[in-house]
Order: sequence, then C-alpha cells, then structure tokens
Amino acid sequence: MDFSFTREDEAFREEVASFVERELPWDWRERSVDPEEPEDAILVKQFKKKLSENGWLTMAWPQEYGGQAAPHIKQVVFNEEMAYRGVPAGDAGVRMVGPILMLYGTEEQKRYFLPRIGQADIDWAQGYSEPDAGSDLASLQTRAVEDGDDFVVTGSKIWNGAHAGADWMFMLARTDPDAPKHRGISFLLTEMATPGITVEKIPMMWNAYRSLVTFDSVRVPRQNLVGEQNRGWYVGAALLDFERSGVDRPARARRVLEELVSFCKGNSRNGRPLSEEPVIRSRLAKMAVEIETCRLMCYNVAWMQSREMIPNKEASITKAFGSEMMQRLYGLGMQIMGLFGQLEPGSNWAPLQGRFENAYLRSHGGTVAAGTSEIQRNVVATRGLGLPRG
Ligand SMILES: Cc1cc2nc3c(=O)[nH]c(=O)nc-3n(C[C@H](O)[C@H](O)[C@H](O)COP(=O)(O)OP(=O)(O)OC[C@H]3O[C@@H](n4cnc5c(N)ncnc54)[C@H](O)[C@@H]3O)c2cc1C
Repeated sequence: MDFSFTREDEAFREEVASFVERELPWDWRERSVDPEEPEDAILVKQFKKKLSENGWLTMAWPQEYGGQAAPHIKQVVFNEEMAYRGVPAGDAGVRMVGPILMLYGTEEQKRYFLPRIGQADIDWAQGYSEPDAGSDLASLQTRAVEDGDDFVVTGSKIWNGAHAGADWMFMLARTDPDAPKHRGISFLLTEMATPGITVEKIPMMWNAYRSLVTFDSVRVPRQNLVGEQNRGWYVGAALLDFERSGVDRPARARRVLEELVSFCKGNSRNGRPLSEEPVIRSRLAKMAVEIETCRLMCYNVAWMQSREMIPNKEASITKAFGSEMMQRLYGLGMQIMGLFGQLEPGSNWAPLQGRFENAYLRSHGGTVAAGTSEIQRNVVATRGLGLPRG
C-alpha cells in the first residue's frame, strides 16, 4: 500500500482549494449546508454547475462518457478538499447512477442520462428503504406489475431526500412476488413528476427532514428498467459499491477539530483558557489521533479501489469507525461548550453559530444511514473474521 501523493496530485489539490476559496458563497463556512434541504439544494446545484464546468464532477468517468478517466486518487484529493471546506459536492448521479448506467444501461438510457448527470442537471433520490425494510432490504414490498409498455408501481419508500426537489428516483421494486426474495426485484428509474407520487416530509431530531414517498399505481415506462428484469438486486448492490471511499468524513472532521481547538484557545473557564486544561488537551489530542487513523483507513479503501480490488470488510470498518468518530467529535465539542453548546443556530449565545448542536444530533443519523453500525460489524465478523452467521 502506497499512501504518498505525487507532485501532480498536490498541484491539483492546490488548484481545487484555491478555486473553492475563491468561488464559495461567503456564508457556507459559517453553517452546515445541506443539499437535501430545498433552499440549500438550489445553491448546491449552482455550485456543482461551476464544478462541472471545470470537468471536475465527472473526472473519474471514462472519456467516452464525457469524463477524463482521471486516476482514482485524484478523485480522493477532490473529495477531501470539498469536504474540508464543507462543500456538499457528493452527487448520487455522478458517483452511483452514472457508473451503474455505464455498466447496465441501454444505449438510450446512457444517451439521455449521462450528459445530464455530468452537467448536474438531475437531482436523485434513493428509493431503497421502506417502512418495513431497512437492514433486511431484500424483504422490500413495493410492487411493480407489468402492464403493456409500463410497470405499475405501488408501495412506499422512506428516509430518502425526495423532498429537496429530486427530479428522479432510482429504486428497487418487486417484479416477481413468487421468486425467492433476492430474485424477484428490479431496478427502476422513476421520474418524480409522474402522477400518483406523493412526497411527505418527516422531521428529523436535527434541523432537517427526510421523506416518505408513496406510489399509487404509478406508471413507469419499461424503457426505465435498468439491467434485467428480476435481477435488480445485483444492480442495486453494485450501485452501493460505487459509494464513496468515505474520505469525506475525516476531511470534514479535521476542519471541525480545528474549529474546536481555536474555540478552546479563545475561551476561558475560571480565568484559564480551555486550551490549558489538561483533560481537554488530552481529549483533543486523542481526537486528532482518531481522525488521522480514520484518514488512513479511508486511503486504504481508496487504494484498493484504484487497484480494482473490491473493498468489503475494509469499507465496513471505515463506515462504522468514521460515523462513530463523528459522534465522538461532536460529542466532545458539546461537552467542552457545556450548556451553551445546546443553543441552536440563530441564538446570540450559541458558540460557533450553533453548528455543533445541530451537527451532534445529525451525527446520530450517520451511524444508521447507508447500513447501521451493527450491520457493518456483522460484515466484519462474517466476511472479515470468518465467524459463523449469528
Ligand atoms: C439520515 C438518514 C438518511 C437516509 N437516507 C436514505 C436514503 O436516501 N434512501 C434510502 O433508501 N434509505 C435511507 N436511509 C435509511 C437507512 O438505510 C435505514 O434506516 C437503515 O438501513 C436501517 O434500516 P431501518 O431504519 O429499517 O432499521 P432496522 O433495519 O429495523 O434496524 C433497527 C435496529 O436493529 C438493528 N439490526 C437490524 N438487523 C440486524 C442484524 N441482522 N444484526 C444486528 N442488528 C440488526 C439495526 O442495526 C438497528 O439498530 C436513511 C437513514 C438515515 C438515518
């Protein structure tokens, strides 16, 4: 494993950093920008358009699909710089739907979707989880029944970001209820403006929403089936392999820790700067070690991907460690700030504009989304350590 960056990688890092510093809307550094909140979604889209004009959104895509076939590590550098500056540039279209269409899509699907994804023109929602299917996703019940040139979809999808103006949903639906549960599933692309779709917002304990999307006899043209009918489970699972290496988390954490350190230098308790308190110093230092450890774990995953190796237990270790690390980091901030730390953004007395309060609550969603910590540990136990299934 070779973690060092080349001189070109470092030059690219500088280029991305100075572009973002120049172009970033002034208040993004002061608050958590959330691409899944409707007001922010518009700003994020505008910023992504600028990134796409530089060719950066799709730089890892093959040239035949409008990319630059850039080495994987360049993508890692880009993701790190974005996350460090709080830019939510992660795009399900670029990172997941595009690569899946390159593998499984029809020529017509590639021609229609790939250029639009590359230009950040489509926002996607992920329609996997259902009210009764999360960790055990293969038990999903949303039905897609063939009818002429269409599938008629009925059911519901939950916890997705559809409320933030998603144009399309990539989704899994059951097309053969009599087949074994992994077999009768198909992967569909559904336009959110189709009649019969209802989107309801569900408030989260932090300052945001997720969605419940209900499908009432929604007609999805057969041409929007990706891959073979009833083989969608494998398309859907391959899509998850294209999720990030996770390098965004330690990059973001580094910035948050820097903010916390400067808070401790600038604030005192009992006449003594917090930064001189031995317990606080020790816990900040421990956090720095954790973040660096997480960064190296993520580099390992990225390195494996660059060698066409499939990170499996490695990705699960990184996801569980990284998302739990974020909870510990924000939890440490909350403890250091004391009762003031519980004030919400907008309060005059909220330290660091209330960012920690909101992020601390949000960090608890991070250990659930994209597979819970328990599920990640099951993967490590069975596939990593060879333990029998519990
Ligand atoms: C912030 C956020 C964003 C999300 N975004 C999306 C999205 O865009 N699209 C989408 O489709 N879904 C999304 N999800 C849903 C997410 O994928 C599911 O919440 C997750 O997979 C868990 O499923 P569940 O909520 O049904 O919990 P359950 O599967 O019911 O789990 C409940 C508890 O039981 C534990 N458990 C379950 N099975 C096992 C097992 N075999 N061994 C040990 N423990 C187990 C779990 O770890 C958990 O603690 C999001 C969730 C969150 C919190």
